[in-house]
Amino acid sequence: MAVEGLDSINFNHVLNSIEFSLEPPSRAEIAKQVGLSRTAVSYIVQKLIAMELVMEQEKENDGKPGRPGTPLVLNPNVWHSIGASFYSCEWCFVSVNLLGAIQSTYCLQVKDNSQQEILGALLEGLKYMKANSQPKLLPAFGVGAPGLVDARKGTIERADDLGWNNTILLSDLIRKSTGLDSFILNRYCANGIEEIEKKQYTKRFENIVYLGMGTAMAGTVFLGGKFVENTKYRLGHIVIDPNGERCHCGQEGCLQTMVCEQAWIRKAEALGLQGIRSGQDISQLAENGNELARRCIQEIAKPLSMGLAIIVNVLNPDLIILGGPLGSSSQYLLDTVRELMKSRILDYQYEHITMVKGDAGKYSSAVGAALLPLKQKYELLNKAQ
Ligand SMILES: [Zn+2]
Repeated sequence: MAVEGLDSINFNHVLNSIEFSLEPPSRAEIAKQVGLSRTAVSYIVQKLIAMELVMEQEKENDGKPGRPGTPLVLNPNVWHSIGASFYSCEWCFVSVNLLGAIQSTYCLQVKDNSQQEILGALLEGLKYMKANSQPKLLPAFGVGAPGLVDARKGTIERADDLGWNNTILLSDLIRKSTGLDSFILNRYCANGIEEIEKKQYTKRFENIVYLGMGTAMAGTVFLGGKFVENTKYRLGHIVIDPNGERCHCGQEGCLQTMVCEQAWIRKAEALGLQGIRSGQDISQLAENGNELARRCIQEIAKPLSMGLAIIVNVLNPDLIILGGPLGSSSQYLLDTVRELMKSRILDYQYEHITMVKGDAGKYSSAVGAALLPLKQKYELLNKAQ
């Protein structure tokens, strides 16, 4: 049976209805929801079942599969997506099923910050994951890369914290090495997508800013509930102090330079805090009430609150998430920043902003990257057929 005029938009509407309905919907319920005829929905569902993207949920006391009332769910057992993300001398790789649940993980350490070492480890890890992914792999990777990423071109334009300032044709490299396409985005941005999708923040908030902090800084912006896929915003390079320290990007006093992990450690050392190896060490001490660690975080919170006030004045977020390995590490940081924000923006603005801490885990960013091929699953498989 052929049904005229059914393009990928309709297939995606049906898939979204199955994926995001509160209860698994029947064919009739989908038809009502997406405004297509029952015949068209049945045709699309049959095709999605044949593609092993969707399956009928078994109902208790009902031995009649295929009945119109049968609830439909995403098939979690067949297709997988692979995501990779780089942080602190390590690539983390995950394989997730269609529900975004982690199926397997793999990590590779790098010896130094050279492009050869970091990109070589990425390609090696992707090839390993491709060879070991069971049972079927969507034909594209998601990669949370360091630096300024141009998602449309699949390139890293520069990575200031690593000292890279040349364009890297990352998607091309991955295609040549593995035979597969890829979706490239910044690693903190990937972390933000994972955080926002996992907690379904777009159901409650319209404008969301996720600010990821670690050895560098980058963010994710959702406006009107939609992810702003534009690499030309660079939240980490808002200038906070024109007389401040020079950033790798060439400007003085960038937010990133003032609040990244190196800044935490420099401030901690200047305050005489002993035995610090990472920003998380400082967070942990501050959470335990250590006065020096708290003073260090207060110093970090000042430029951070200034940067956030600028973002609030421009984008009017209802939700700000402090995320990434450092932003997620300290409730004290969040509370201090929230307090400082009061004096930097109007009460009128302050009152409608919710501020929360992210909960970045080791694999959050890689999972966020793996979600990109999942969003395109129908197109990817339809193209590959
Ligand atoms: Zn900069």
